[in-house]
Amino acid sequence: MSTAHWLFGDQLGPHFIEPGDQGPDRGAPLVLIEAKSVFRRRRFHRAKAHLVLSAMRHRAAELGDRVRYVRADTYREGLREAVGQRKVTVHQPTSRAALDLVSRLPQVEVLPARGFFVPNDMFRTWAEGRAGTKLRQEDFYRWTRHRLDLLMEGDAPAGGRWNLDHDNREAPPKGARTLGAAPPYRPREDEIDKQVRRDLDRWEREDGIEFVGRDGPRLFPASRREARAALARFVEHRLAGFGPHEDAMLAADPVMSHSLLSSSLNLGLLDPWECVEQAEDAWRAGRAPLSSVEGFIRQIAGWREYVWQLYWYFGEDYRDRNALGHHEPLPDWLLELDADAVTARCLSTVLAQVRDTGWTHHIPRLMVLGSHALQRGYDPRALTDWFHRCFVDGYDWVMVPNVIGMSQYADGGQMTTKPYTSGGAYLNRMSDFCTGCAYRPTQRTGERACPYTAGYWSFMHRNQRRLADNPRTVRAVRGLERLSDLDQVLQEEAARREQAP
Ligand code: FAD
Repeated sequence: MSTAHWLFGDQLGPHFIEPGDQGPDRGAPLVLIEAKSVFRRRRFHRAKAHLVLSAMRHRAAELGDRVRYVRADTYREGLREAVGQRKVTVHQPTSRAALDLVSRLPQVEVLPARGFFVPNDMFRTWAEGRAGTKLRQEDFYRWTRHRLDLLMEGDAPAGGRWNLDHDNREAPPKGARTLGAAPPYRPREDEIDKQVRRDLDRWEREDGIEFVGRDGPRLFPASRREARAALARFVEHRLAGFGPHEDAMLAADPVMSHSLLSSSLNLGLLDPWECVEQAEDAWRAGRAPLSSVEGFIRQIAGWREYVWQLYWYFGEDYRDRNALGHHEPLPDWLLELDADAVTARCLSTVLAQVRDTGWTHHIPRLMVLGSHALQRGYDPRALTDWFHRCFVDGYDWVMVPNVIGMSQYADGGQMTTKPYTSGGAYLNRMSDFCTGCAYRPTQRTGERACPYTAGYWSFMHRNQRRLADNPRTVRAVRGLERLSDLDQVLQEEAARREQAP
């Protein structure tokens, strides 16, 4: 009989069971383990718990008799129940903790990772070949595109340029409440979802398991069929408009032209290959402009892949980096997703999106949530945990580099060249949040001082020694000298620290 193959809950697509040299046996019996202890350890967003359980159970239903679906307290117990002491294979899990667990179980053979473009050792060779040069996503992205022959014309990038970002940084259209993009794919709940909801209610009632956020109708795909439909709809109806307003935010249109594919990619329901191939095909067939297609491919073959590689490359202690010495505990309004306790319209709107859906797009994560945390000096590790628990697409591998590196600069600049933070002027330019807000983006003192504007100067002042050495931030540090009211800004900002902004 062939060796059984274990699928983690984020290994749900067909590419995790394809046999081959470094894959499971052909037709291997499959094991899926629903471990309740995972939900006991962390207070997850309920919509996320719902999505993950629904996706695992949908996969089990699709695979029928081939899968043994075990509900257990821990993975060890589940594995014992499923296969006893017999051998199993598993593709490299996506977190260090899970890799450590399977590596310590003698019956488990760990196969190479699937669902990414570049093997980790190949990335290591690439990175080490650049000794003395700073690692940059842009260089990695170009190397990957060339290697994979993605959006290329011979040896040159399609259209002659690697990066079309400058066509993609537009502010929202003036006066528009929405972008007017075709609506994204939304799934319809079924019997499996009803059962999941009943189980989660029971866990809360009887097992003392706690969640945060609202578990409204499920918004993200839970099966391969749904994920493929979501990808097809995006490529057909929304990809063409993906690029131009990628960085813009509108209060009444949280999704804009974003793909909403991150949860499907991270559950393994979609293979990144099919996403970039379909996008490239759309461009070659004249159905989407190069700027949008390049922008989308950069997100997946560039950023997503780079983040995955850095998670393993930077090592175990990367998650503990705290270069700016930030130790503020997360406030209750953030922990509880209490959007109503927040006055600043940008933060309150984005927090409500997270509370209600477990998702908001990249710029609100970086420039509203992350930037506020950076300015207030929240503990980066606690913040990583918060993002991980509260987002439907949050997993250890993707949260650690995105929060520690990209958003909090806690690695001192290993991942990005400067801290991502801004005053209210940037938010006012890139969104409609400031209209109707109780604060004014131009004011840094007084009752109507924008928390982002005052917070920005306070952050610059606190870190001026470090930032004055950085060519990308030295001008901003010099700006401090021109602030005649700096003392007042700092005093008022310190007094406000205890309050929700
Ligand atoms: P789109 O804008 O449509 O982008 C297409 C795809 O590109 C996404 O689906 C995603 O798979 C990929 N992508 C783009 N940027 C990144 C990135 N930096 N890291 C990984 N993938 C990327 N993404 C997650 O998938 N999980 C997370 O837990 C996560 N946490 C984040 C935390 C912070 C503080 C920040 C700044 C970013 C985070 N991101 C995370 C990246 C990005 O915000 C989301 O991937 C994106 O908003 C998901 O929405 P979408 O599918 O509509 O993305």
